[in-house]
Amino acid sequence: MLSKLAILGGPKSVGANHDEIFSWPIITDEDKEAVLDVLNRRAMSGTDITIKFEAEFAKWQGTSYALAFNNGTSALHAAMFGCGMGIGDEIICPSVTYWASITSAFSLGSTVAFADIDPESLCIDPASMEKRITRNTKAIMVVHYLAHPADMDPIMEIARKHKLKVIEDVSHAQGGMYKGKKLGTFGDVAAMSLMTGKSFAIGEGGMLVTNNAGIYERAIAFGHYERFDDRIKNEELKKYAGLPLGGYKYRMHQVSSAVGRVQLKYYDERCAGIRKSMDYFWELLKDVPGMKPHRVQDGLGSNMAGWYIPYAHYMKEQLGGLSITRFTEAVRAEGINNCVPGCNNPLHTHPVYNTCDIYGHGKPTRIANSREDEDIRAFDKDLPVSGKIGTVIFSAPWFKFYKPEIIEEYASAFRKVSENYKELLKDDPGDPPHIGTWHFFKQH
Ligand SMILES: *Cc1c(COP(=O)(O)O)cnc(C)c1O
Repeated sequence: MLSKLAILGGPKSVGANHDEIFSWPIITDEDKEAVLDVLNRRAMSGTDITIKFEAEFAKWQGTSYALAFNNGTSALHAAMFGCGMGIGDEIICPSVTYWASITSAFSLGSTVAFADIDPESLCIDPASMEKRITRNTKAIMVVHYLAHPADMDPIMEIARKHKLKVIEDVSHAQGGMYKGKKLGTFGDVAAMSLMTGKSFAIGEGGMLVTNNAGIYERAIAFGHYERFDDRIKNEELKKYAGLPLGGYKYRMHQVSSAVGRVQLKYYDERCAGIRKSMDYFWELLKDVPGMKPHRVQDGLGSNMAGWYIPYAHYMKEQLGGLSITRFTEAVRAEGINNCVPGCNNPLHTHPVYNTCDIYGHGKPTRIANSREDEDIRAFDKDLPVSGKIGTVIFSAPWFKFYKPEIIEEYASAFRKVSENYKELLKDDPGDPPHIGTWHFFKQH
Protein backbone atom coordinates (compact mmCIF):
# COMPACT_ATOMS: atom_id res chain seq x y z
CA MET A 1 0.00 0.00 0.00
CA LEU A 2 1.32 3.39 -0.93
CA SER A 3 1.09 5.91 1.81
CA LYS A 4 -0.82 9.10 1.19
CA LEU A 5 1.09 12.17 0.01
CA ALA A 6 1.90 14.68 2.75
CA ILE A 7 0.52 17.52 0.63
CA LEU A 8 -2.83 15.70 0.69
CA GLY A 9 -2.74 15.13 4.44
CA GLY A 10 -0.60 11.98 4.69
CA PRO A 11 2.55 11.45 6.79
CA LYS A 12 5.80 13.17 5.80
CA SER A 13 8.57 11.00 4.34
CA VAL A 14 11.24 13.03 6.15
CA GLY A 15 10.08 13.54 9.69
CA ALA A 16 13.09 14.63 11.70
CA ASN A 17 15.46 17.50 11.10
CA HIS A 18 18.70 16.19 9.55
CA ASP A 19 20.66 19.44 9.31
CA GLU A 20 23.91 17.67 10.21
CA ILE A 21 24.06 15.81 6.90
CA PHE A 22 23.96 19.13 5.01
CA SER A 23 26.25 21.18 7.24
CA TRP A 24 29.19 22.63 5.29
CA PRO A 25 32.06 23.28 5.29
CA ILE A 26 33.55 21.01 7.94
CA ILE A 27 35.23 23.26 10.53
CA THR A 28 37.62 21.67 13.01
CA ASP A 29 40.01 22.97 15.64
CA GLU A 30 42.65 23.13 12.95
CA ASP A 31 40.63 25.80 11.06
CA LYS A 32 39.97 27.70 14.28
CA GLU A 33 43.63 27.71 15.31
CA ALA A 34 44.67 28.91 11.86
CA VAL A 35 42.19 31.81 12.11
CA LEU A 36 43.29 32.70 15.63
CA ASP A 37 46.90 32.78 14.52
CA VAL A 38 46.02 35.40 11.88
CA LEU A 39 44.15 37.48 14.41
CA ASN A 40 46.80 37.17 17.12
CA ARG A 41 49.50 38.25 14.70
CA ARG A 42 47.30 41.10 13.37
CA ALA A 43 48.08 39.68 9.94
CA MET A 44 44.63 40.07 8.39
CA SER A 45 45.73 42.39 5.59
CA GLY A 46 49.13 40.83 4.92
CA THR A 47 50.12 38.44 2.16
CA ASP A 48 52.43 35.93 3.88
CA ILE A 49 49.77 33.29 4.49
CA THR A 50 48.09 34.01 1.17
CA ILE A 51 51.34 33.36 -0.69
CA LYS A 52 51.68 30.00 1.05
CA PHE A 53 48.06 29.18 0.23
CA GLU A 54 48.66 30.08 -3.42
CA ALA A 55 51.71 27.81 -3.65
CA GLU A 56 49.78 24.89 -2.16
CA PHE A 57 46.77 25.60 -4.33
CA ALA A 58 48.84 25.75 -7.53
CA LYS A 59 50.40 22.40 -6.65
CA TRP A 60 46.99 20.85 -6.04
CA GLN A 61 45.51 22.43 -9.15
CA GLY A 62 48.46 21.41 -11.30
CA THR A 63 49.18 24.88 -12.69
CA SER A 64 52.31 27.02 -12.59
CA TYR A 65 50.53 29.93 -10.90
CA ALA A 66 47.72 30.58 -8.46
CA LEU A 67 46.72 34.11 -7.43
CA ALA A 68 44.32 34.67 -4.55
CA PHE A 69 41.51 37.25 -4.62
CA ASN A 70 39.01 38.71 -2.20
CA ASN A 71 36.22 36.90 -4.07
CA GLY A 72 35.46 34.91 -7.19
CA THR A 73 33.97 37.91 -8.98
CA SER A 74 37.28 39.80 -8.80
CA ALA A 75 39.28 36.70 -9.82
CA LEU A 76 37.11 36.42 -12.94
CA HIS A 77 37.42 40.14 -13.60
CA ALA A 78 41.21 39.87 -13.44
CA ALA A 79 41.17 36.77 -15.66
CA MET A 80 39.36 38.76 -18.35
CA PHE A 81 41.84 41.61 -18.02
CA GLY A 82 44.64 39.05 -18.03
CA CYS A 83 43.43 37.83 -21.43
CA GLY A 84 43.70 41.37 -22.75
CA MET A 85 39.99 42.12 -22.98
CA GLY A 86 39.29 45.78 -23.61
CA ILE A 87 37.14 48.28 -25.49
CA GLY A 88 34.82 46.72 -28.06
CA ASP A 89 35.89 43.13 -27.42
CA GLU A 90 33.29 40.41 -27.12
CA ILE A 91 33.33 37.44 -24.79
CA ILE A 92 31.02 34.48 -25.32
CA CYS A 93 29.34 33.18 -22.18
CA PRO A 94 26.45 30.81 -21.51
CA SER A 95 23.27 32.70 -20.62
CA VAL A 96 22.54 30.36 -17.74
CA THR A 97 25.13 31.13 -15.08
CA TYR A 98 25.59 33.36 -12.07
CA TRP A 99 26.02 37.03 -13.05
CA ALA A 100 29.60 37.18 -11.74
CA SER A 101 30.84 34.94 -14.55
CA ILE A 102 30.59 37.84 -16.93
CA THR A 103 29.04 41.10 -15.77
CA SER A 104 32.37 42.76 -14.96
CA ALA A 105 33.31 42.54 -18.66
CA PHE A 106 31.41 45.82 -19.00
CA SER A 107 33.90 47.62 -16.80
CA LEU A 108 36.65 46.67 -19.28
CA GLY A 109 34.67 48.27 -22.09
CA SER A 110 33.90 44.81 -23.43
CA THR A 111 30.57 43.16 -24.05
CA VAL A 112 28.94 39.76 -23.82
CA ALA A 113 27.63 37.45 -26.53
CA PHE A 114 25.39 34.85 -24.96
CA ALA A 115 25.49 31.23 -26.07
CA ASP A 116 22.91 28.57 -25.34
CA ILE A 117 23.47 25.65 -22.99
CA ASP A 118 23.38 21.94 -23.64
CA PRO A 119 20.14 20.48 -22.20
CA GLU A 120 21.90 17.54 -20.50
CA SER A 121 25.10 19.07 -19.10
CA LEU A 122 23.57 22.57 -18.61
CA CYS A 123 26.97 23.92 -19.69
CA ILE A 124 27.80 25.94 -22.80
CA ASP A 125 26.70 24.24 -26.02
CA PRO A 126 29.78 24.18 -28.30
CA ALA A 127 27.67 24.53 -31.47
CA SER A 128 25.84 27.58 -30.15
CA MET A 129 29.16 28.99 -28.93
CA GLU A 130 30.68 28.68 -32.38
CA LYS A 131 27.73 30.53 -33.92
CA ARG A 132 28.43 33.53 -31.67
CA ILE A 133 31.99 34.05 -32.89
CA THR A 134 32.55 37.33 -34.72
CA ARG A 135 35.71 39.20 -35.65
CA ASN A 136 35.38 41.03 -32.32
CA THR A 137 35.37 37.88 -30.19
CA LYS A 138 38.33 37.80 -27.86
CA ALA A 139 37.50 35.07 -25.37
CA ILE A 140 35.11 32.40 -24.22
CA MET A 141 33.88 32.05 -20.67
CA VAL A 142 33.24 28.38 -19.95
CA VAL A 143 31.28 27.64 -16.78
CA HIS A 144 31.32 24.14 -15.29
CA TYR A 145 27.77 24.73 -14.22
CA LEU A 146 26.33 23.07 -11.11
CA ALA A 147 29.50 20.98 -10.87
CA HIS A 148 29.07 19.40 -14.30
CA PRO A 149 32.18 19.58 -16.48
CA ALA A 150 31.65 21.44 -19.73
CA ASP A 151 32.51 19.54 -22.89
CA MET A 152 36.09 20.77 -23.15
CA ASP A 153 37.24 18.78 -26.20
CA PRO A 154 35.04 20.52 -28.80
CA ILE A 155 35.22 23.82 -26.90
CA MET A 156 39.03 23.90 -27.05
CA GLU A 157 39.07 22.75 -30.64
CA ILE A 158 36.78 25.58 -31.74
CA ALA A 159 38.61 28.13 -29.60
CA ARG A 160 42.03 27.19 -30.95
CA LYS A 161 40.74 27.22 -34.52
CA HIS A 162 39.57 30.82 -34.05
CA LYS A 163 42.52 31.83 -31.82
CA LEU A 164 40.29 32.74 -28.90
CA LYS A 165 41.26 32.81 -25.25
CA VAL A 166 39.41 30.41 -22.98
CA ILE A 167 38.59 31.27 -19.37
CA GLU A 168 37.09 28.57 -17.16
CA ASP A 169 34.78 29.60 -14.33
CA VAL A 170 35.29 26.76 -11.87
CA SER A 171 33.22 28.26 -9.05
CA HIS A 172 30.87 25.26 -9.04
CA ALA A 173 33.40 22.53 -9.68
CA GLN A 174 36.70 23.00 -7.82
CA GLY A 175 38.76 19.83 -8.10
CA GLY A 176 36.41 18.25 -10.64
CA MET A 177 37.60 16.24 -13.63
CA TYR A 178 36.88 16.07 -17.34
CA LYS A 179 38.16 12.86 -18.94
CA GLY A 180 40.76 12.40 -16.22
CA LYS A 181 42.12 15.97 -16.31
CA LYS A 182 41.41 18.64 -13.73
CA LEU A 183 38.91 21.38 -14.50
CA GLY A 184 40.62 24.72 -14.66
CA THR A 185 43.60 23.37 -16.60
CA PHE A 186 42.08 23.29 -20.10
CA GLY A 187 41.78 26.97 -20.94
CA ASP A 188 44.31 29.81 -20.85
CA VAL A 189 43.26 30.74 -17.34
CA ALA A 190 40.64 29.70 -14.79
CA ALA A 191 39.07 31.59 -11.93
CA MET A 192 36.81 30.46 -9.16
CA SER A 193 34.90 31.50 -6.12
CA LEU A 194 35.79 29.97 -2.76
CA MET A 195 32.96 31.65 -0.87
CA THR A 196 31.15 29.85 1.91
CA GLY A 197 28.24 28.57 -0.19
CA LYS A 198 30.50 26.73 -2.62
CA SER A 199 31.89 23.22 -2.26
CA PHE A 200 35.40 24.65 -1.72
CA ALA A 201 34.38 27.03 1.05
CA ILE A 202 36.84 29.26 2.91
CA GLY A 203 34.89 32.46 3.58
CA GLU A 204 34.89 35.24 0.99
CA GLY A 205 37.65 34.41 -1.47
CA GLY A 206 38.56 33.58 -5.03
CA MET A 207 41.46 32.05 -6.94
CA LEU A 208 42.92 32.54 -10.38
CA VAL A 209 45.04 29.74 -11.82
CA THR A 210 47.05 29.63 -15.04
CA ASN A 211 50.18 28.31 -16.71
CA ASN A 212 50.56 31.56 -18.62
CA ALA A 213 53.07 33.97 -17.06
CA GLY A 214 51.73 36.88 -19.10
CA ILE A 215 48.17 36.42 -17.87
CA TYR A 216 49.40 35.93 -14.31
CA GLU A 217 51.39 39.16 -14.33
CA ARG A 218 48.56 41.15 -15.89
CA ALA A 219 46.23 39.81 -13.20
CA ILE A 220 48.67 41.01 -10.53
CA ALA A 221 49.02 44.40 -12.21
CA PHE A 222 45.23 44.76 -12.36
CA GLY A 223 44.32 44.59 -8.70
CA HIS A 224 47.31 43.66 -6.51
CA TYR A 225 49.28 46.87 -6.15
CA GLU A 226 51.34 45.50 -3.24
CA ARG A 227 52.75 42.76 -5.48
CA PHE A 228 53.10 44.92 -8.57
CA ASP A 229 56.84 45.49 -8.06
CA ASP A 230 60.15 44.04 -9.18
CA ARG A 231 58.65 40.56 -9.08
CA ILE A 232 56.95 41.48 -12.39
CA LYS A 233 59.11 40.54 -15.38
CA ASN A 234 57.01 41.89 -18.25
CA GLU A 235 58.78 45.00 -19.57
CA GLU A 236 55.59 46.69 -20.71
CA LEU A 237 53.92 46.26 -17.32
CA LYS A 238 57.01 47.11 -15.27
CA LYS A 239 56.84 50.74 -16.27
CA TYR A 240 53.64 51.13 -14.29
CA ALA A 241 54.61 49.18 -11.18
CA GLY A 242 53.31 50.49 -7.87
CA LEU A 243 49.76 51.36 -8.83
CA PRO A 244 47.08 48.87 -9.84
CA LEU A 245 46.23 49.27 -13.53
CA GLY A 246 42.58 48.44 -13.00
CA GLY A 247 42.33 50.66 -9.95
CA TYR A 248 41.05 47.76 -7.89
CA LYS A 249 42.24 46.32 -4.60
CA TYR A 250 41.63 42.63 -4.81
CA ARG A 251 43.82 40.79 -2.28
CA MET A 252 42.45 38.01 -0.13
CA HIS A 253 41.67 38.55 3.55
CA GLN A 254 44.16 36.34 5.38
CA VAL A 255 41.52 34.79 7.61
CA SER A 256 40.23 33.29 4.37
CA SER A 257 43.74 32.25 3.29
CA ALA A 258 44.30 30.54 6.64
CA VAL A 259 41.01 28.63 6.42
CA GLY A 260 41.80 27.83 2.79
CA ARG A 261 45.11 26.17 3.65
CA VAL A 262 43.38 23.86 6.09
CA GLN A 263 40.40 23.16 3.84
CA LEU A 264 42.69 22.31 0.93
CA LYS A 265 44.34 19.47 2.87
CA TYR A 266 41.06 17.62 3.25
CA TYR A 267 39.10 18.83 0.24
CA ASP A 268 39.53 15.89 -2.14
CA GLU A 269 38.76 13.33 0.53
CA ARG A 270 35.65 15.25 1.65
CA CYS A 271 34.44 15.62 -1.94
CA ALA A 272 34.81 11.88 -2.43
CA GLY A 273 32.44 11.47 0.54
CA ILE A 274 29.93 13.81 -1.09
CA ARG A 275 30.11 11.89 -4.36
CA LYS A 276 29.62 8.57 -2.58
CA SER A 277 26.52 9.96 -0.85
CA MET A 278 25.08 11.50 -3.99
CA ASP A 279 25.76 8.38 -6.06
CA TYR A 280 23.91 6.33 -3.46
CA PHE A 281 20.97 8.76 -3.49
CA TRP A 282 20.63 8.62 -7.29
CA GLU A 283 21.10 4.85 -7.30
CA LEU A 284 18.04 4.59 -5.04
CA LEU A 285 16.05 6.68 -7.53
CA LYS A 286 17.32 5.19 -10.72
CA ASP A 287 14.04 3.73 -12.01
CA VAL A 288 11.75 6.43 -10.65
CA PRO A 289 9.72 8.05 -13.44
CA GLY A 290 9.82 11.81 -13.96
CA MET A 291 13.39 12.51 -12.94
CA LYS A 292 17.01 11.73 -13.69
CA PRO A 293 20.16 13.18 -12.15
CA HIS A 294 22.12 16.06 -13.64
CA ARG A 295 25.51 14.40 -13.67
CA VAL A 296 28.33 13.07 -15.80
CA GLN A 297 29.01 9.34 -16.01
CA ASP A 298 31.12 8.97 -19.12
CA GLY A 299 33.38 6.17 -17.90
CA LEU A 300 36.30 8.36 -18.99
CA GLY A 301 37.26 9.81 -15.63
CA SER A 302 34.92 12.82 -15.54
CA ASN A 303 33.15 13.59 -12.28
CA MET A 304 30.90 15.97 -10.37
CA ALA A 305 33.60 17.48 -8.11
CA GLY A 306 31.95 18.47 -4.79
CA TRP A 307 28.53 18.37 -6.46
CA TYR A 308 27.63 22.06 -6.03
CA ILE A 309 24.45 22.03 -6.18
CA PRO A 310 22.74 18.70 -7.03
CA TYR A 311 19.98 19.03 -9.61
CA ALA A 312 17.64 16.69 -11.46
CA HIS A 313 16.17 16.85 -14.92
CA TYR A 314 12.39 16.76 -14.74
CA MET A 315 10.48 14.77 -17.35
CA LYS A 316 6.85 15.76 -16.96
CA GLU A 317 5.73 13.57 -19.88
CA GLN A 318 6.50 10.54 -17.67
CA LEU A 319 4.12 11.90 -15.02
CA GLY A 320 1.08 12.69 -17.10
CA GLY A 321 2.22 16.27 -17.76
CA LEU A 322 2.35 17.21 -14.06
CA SER A 323 3.88 20.68 -13.71
CA ILE A 324 7.27 20.98 -12.05
CA THR A 325 5.68 23.57 -9.77
CA ARG A 326 3.19 21.07 -8.38
CA PHE A 327 5.72 18.23 -8.31
CA THR A 328 8.26 20.16 -6.24
CA GLU A 329 5.55 21.52 -3.97
CA ALA A 330 4.58 17.93 -3.15
CA VAL A 331 8.24 17.01 -2.50
CA ARG A 332 8.64 19.99 -0.16
CA ALA A 333 5.54 18.91 1.72
CA GLU A 334 7.28 15.56 2.31
CA GLY A 335 9.89 17.48 4.35
CA ILE A 336 12.50 18.47 1.72
CA ASN A 337 12.47 22.25 1.85
CA ASN A 338 15.10 23.03 -0.73
CA CYS A 339 13.53 21.11 -3.62
CA VAL A 340 12.66 23.98 -5.97
CA PRO A 341 12.30 24.29 -9.73
CA GLY A 342 14.68 26.37 -11.82
CA CYS A 343 18.19 27.72 -11.31
CA ASN A 344 19.86 31.01 -12.29
CA ASN A 345 17.60 32.93 -14.64
CA PRO A 346 19.03 33.27 -18.14
CA LEU A 347 21.12 36.46 -18.01
CA HIS A 348 20.10 37.65 -21.45
CA THR A 349 16.60 38.35 -20.09
CA HIS A 350 17.79 40.83 -17.45
CA PRO A 351 17.56 44.57 -18.19
CA VAL A 352 21.25 45.01 -17.27
CA TYR A 353 22.01 43.20 -20.54
CA ASN A 354 19.36 45.00 -22.53
CA THR A 355 18.45 48.54 -21.61
CA CYS A 356 20.62 49.66 -18.72
CA ASP A 357 23.10 52.48 -19.43
CA ILE A 358 25.48 51.79 -16.57
CA TYR A 359 28.25 54.26 -17.42
CA GLY A 360 26.34 57.11 -19.02
CA HIS A 361 27.27 56.36 -22.62
CA GLY A 362 23.86 57.53 -23.69
CA LYS A 363 23.03 54.02 -24.87
CA PRO A 364 22.74 50.59 -23.28
CA THR A 365 26.08 49.43 -21.92
CA ARG A 366 25.80 46.13 -23.76
CA ILE A 367 26.23 47.96 -27.08
CA ALA A 368 28.05 51.09 -25.89
CA ASN A 369 31.43 50.11 -27.39
CA SER A 370 30.24 47.93 -30.28
CA ARG A 371 32.40 48.10 -33.36
CA GLU A 372 29.67 46.77 -35.62
CA ASP A 373 26.33 48.04 -36.80
CA GLU A 374 24.82 44.72 -35.93
CA ASP A 375 23.25 44.75 -32.46
CA ILE A 376 24.72 41.94 -30.36
CA ARG A 377 21.44 41.71 -28.43
CA ALA A 378 19.66 40.46 -31.56
CA PHE A 379 21.26 37.03 -31.19
CA ASP A 380 19.70 36.49 -27.76
CA LYS A 381 16.51 35.28 -29.48
CA ASP A 382 18.34 32.13 -30.43
CA LEU A 383 18.72 30.63 -26.94
CA PRO A 384 15.82 28.17 -26.63
CA VAL A 385 17.31 25.84 -24.00
CA SER A 386 18.32 28.70 -21.70
CA GLY A 387 14.95 30.35 -22.19
CA LYS A 388 12.97 27.47 -20.70
CA ILE A 389 15.50 26.08 -18.24
CA GLY A 390 13.33 26.91 -15.20
CA THR A 391 10.67 24.34 -16.05
CA VAL A 392 12.89 21.35 -16.71
CA ILE A 393 15.22 21.07 -13.72
CA PHE A 394 14.81 21.09 -9.95
CA SER A 395 17.22 21.11 -7.02
CA ALA A 396 17.83 17.99 -4.95
CA PRO A 397 19.37 17.47 -1.49
CA TRP A 398 23.14 18.03 -1.28
CA PHE A 399 24.37 15.32 1.08
CA LYS A 400 27.79 15.98 2.53
CA PHE A 401 28.15 12.77 4.51
CA TYR A 402 27.44 9.14 3.74
CA LYS A 403 24.63 8.23 6.10
CA PRO A 404 22.61 5.63 4.21
CA GLU A 405 19.48 5.62 6.43
CA ILE A 406 19.01 9.37 6.13
CA ILE A 407 19.69 9.36 2.40
CA GLU A 408 17.13 6.56 2.00
CA GLU A 409 14.52 8.66 3.78
CA TYR A 410 15.05 11.54 1.37
CA ALA A 411 14.98 9.25 -1.65
CA SER A 412 11.72 7.72 -0.46
CA ALA A 413 10.08 11.16 -0.60
CA PHE A 414 10.86 11.56 -4.30
CA ARG A 415 9.77 8.02 -5.02
CA LYS A 416 6.49 8.53 -3.17
CA VAL A 417 5.63 11.72 -5.07
CA SER A 418 6.49 10.11 -8.39
CA GLU A 419 4.41 6.99 -7.66
CA ASN A 420 1.40 9.06 -6.59
CA TYR A 421 1.58 11.65 -9.36
CA LYS A 422 -1.98 11.00 -10.53
CA GLU A 423 -3.37 12.39 -7.31
CA LEU A 424 -1.57 15.65 -7.99
CA LEU A 425 -2.87 16.17 -11.50
CA LYS A 426 -6.32 17.37 -10.50
CA ASP A 427 -5.15 20.38 -8.48
CA ASP A 428 -2.22 21.20 -10.73
CA PRO A 429 -2.13 24.98 -11.24
CA GLY A 430 0.51 24.60 -13.99
CA ASP A 431 3.73 26.57 -14.15
CA PRO A 432 3.99 30.36 -13.94
CA PRO A 433 5.58 32.03 -16.98
CA HIS A 434 9.00 32.37 -15.33
CA ILE A 435 10.69 30.14 -12.80
CA GLY A 436 14.18 30.82 -11.44
CA THR A 437 16.16 33.32 -9.42
CA TRP A 438 19.07 35.67 -10.09
CA HIS A 439 21.13 34.08 -7.32
CA PHE A 440 20.92 31.22 -4.83
CA PHE A 441 22.46 32.93 -1.85
CA LYS A 442 20.59 32.72 1.43
CA GLN A 443 22.01 34.86 4.21
CA HIS A 444 22.52 33.34 7.63
C1 LIG B 1 29.72 32.22 -6.84
C2 LIG B 1 30.04 32.37 -8.28
C3 LIG B 1 30.89 33.38 -8.76
C4 LIG B 1 31.37 34.55 -7.93
O1 LIG B 1 32.06 34.30 -6.84
P1 LIG B 1 32.01 35.21 -5.52
O2 LIG B 1 33.05 34.60 -4.68
O3 LIG B 1 30.65 35.11 -4.96
O4 LIG B 1 32.36 36.59 -5.94
C5 LIG B 1 31.23 33.37 -10.10
N1 LIG B 1 30.72 32.46 -10.94
C6 LIG B 1 29.87 31.51 -10.55
C7 LIG B 1 29.37 30.53 -11.54
C8 LIG B 1 29.48 31.46 -9.20
O5 LIG B 1 28.59 30.55 -8.81
